[in-house]
Amino acid sequence: MSSNLNFLIVPLMCPGHLIPMIDMAKLISQQSVAVTIVITPRNVERYGSVLNRAISSGLPIRILQLKFPASEYGLPDGCESIDDLPSFNLSKNFFDASYTLQKQLEDVFNELKPRPSCIISDKHVMWTSDVAKKFQIPWVVFDGMSCFTQLATHNLCVSKIHEKLTDFEPFDLPGLHDKITMTKSQLPGLFNPGNGDRGKELKKVREKIRETELGAYGTIINSFEELETNYINEFKRIKQGRVWCIGPFSQLNKNDLDKAQRGSKDLNNEHDYLIKWLDSQRENSVIYVCLGSLARLTPPQFIELALGLEASKIPFILVVKGGNKKEEIEKWLAEDRFESRVKGRGVLVRGWAPQVVILSHRAVGAFLTHCGWNSTIEGVSAGVAMITWPQFADQFFNQRLVVQVVGSGVEVGAKKVLHLEDEDAANEIQVKREDVCNCIKKVMKEGNEIRERSKYMKKMAEKAIEDGGSSHVNLRLFIEDIMLHTNKCLAA
Ligand code: UDP
Repeated sequence: MSSNLNFLIVPLMCPGHLIPMIDMAKLISQQSVAVTIVITPRNVERYGSVLNRAISSGLPIRILQLKFPASEYGLPDGCESIDDLPSFNLSKNFFDASYTLQKQLEDVFNELKPRPSCIISDKHVMWTSDVAKKFQIPWVVFDGMSCFTQLATHNLCVSKIHEKLTDFEPFDLPGLHDKITMTKSQLPGLFNPGNGDRGKELKKVREKIRETELGAYGTIINSFEELETNYINEFKRIKQGRVWCIGPFSQLNKNDLDKAQRGSKDLNNEHDYLIKWLDSQRENSVIYVCLGSLARLTPPQFIELALGLEASKIPFILVVKGGNKKEEIEKWLAEDRFESRVKGRGVLVRGWAPQVVILSHRAVGAFLTHCGWNSTIEGVSAGVAMITWPQFADQFFNQRLVVQVVGSGVEVGAKKVLHLEDEDAANEIQVKREDVCNCIKKVMKEGNEIRERSKYMKKMAEKAIEDGGSSHVNLRLFIEDIMLHTNKCLAA
């Protein structure tokens, strides 16, 4: 399409942000636009196989490796991703270390060929807006969230309705197309920072991110028009049209290895066993349970989930990520003999699960998800019914979108946000084993309508990224916009 374009992509080093941006790099480069992705050595190790396979297939992707000074900022050596932090209380150290990438990038900027035409950056990597200003190119934000979340956030910022409410008082989100009732305790940290000093500190950072983001040239969203039409239209109106929905990105990964290595080059030791086990199960009979890359259930809450799954008698895959509570969880699993009790019917995956492979397997009929936006859109694109168990950030918004707007899920009954930084706080149980069990049974046995909605959305997702589909058209419009801007600047 254009040989003089080069889109500089700067992700936040965290799976839920890096995975979609790598997909996005591939997507843009398929339109014959060069992309340069900024990444650090450990992340090159982790995601390099996927990127190198794309490069070997002829896509114009370049990897710009910058040093991440982990140990200089009090982080373990090699800790270059937020999911590798020993404690989320070290996230400030992580962000401070990330700031050192700015100078490194500015030092090599003029050597990049073709000269970058724009920066597409995760909104959390705020310093990239200064780099864009310095080199006078558009700063485009990749916001790894839905337009529903964008709009709800915008309307709350304007109305400030939440400021007058107590934590558990139900209220309708202002200005939305559907009647969406929530409580303040379910809102993201920007509106519901928690009570501690850490929460207040983070609120300031979130406000700064928000302020910076408002100055962006435009926004790229991993969504598609058929999924959240009214919300996309309204958000576009607010942003004077500069919103491009070009997803769902996960659909881009067609071959098994790309699907399996999305997020981690190391295939889990039990990968082959897992796939064989899935092959042996009936169509739509298995529930896949994964709460993303960051969420850590407390041991008591994990136990309720596990026992609820057992009681449902439905075949399941459960991804175990204990973080600093891993040993406690493993101790319970061993003492309770959980795995031997569910042997043959339930499979536990420790560490990284090949989520897109699992979701696209014909045996998987439902997805118990924390509603991170990537997982949400991956579940929608796979056509599975969803059981929603939001934890933090935008996840309660995504739950509403799935359950109320799209109609492809059922809530398990989470009541409030669990702030990531409160990892040692309450050992409380929000969802009981009966809630888990009943919800699963409902979706697996009576969920025909839900499943039909899911299958319909899967078809829409497939169409969106085909030639001439809504996301494909939007991608071309985005590229044309940047091309016009670049040409105008060259002519001036
Ligand atoms: N993921 C995965 N295996 C895991 C955990 C997560 O493949 O064991 C992927 C998942 O497919 C998604 C991303 O990691 O693409 C997680 O992003 P999401 O927005 O759902 O949640 P987050 O991890 O940011 O909370």
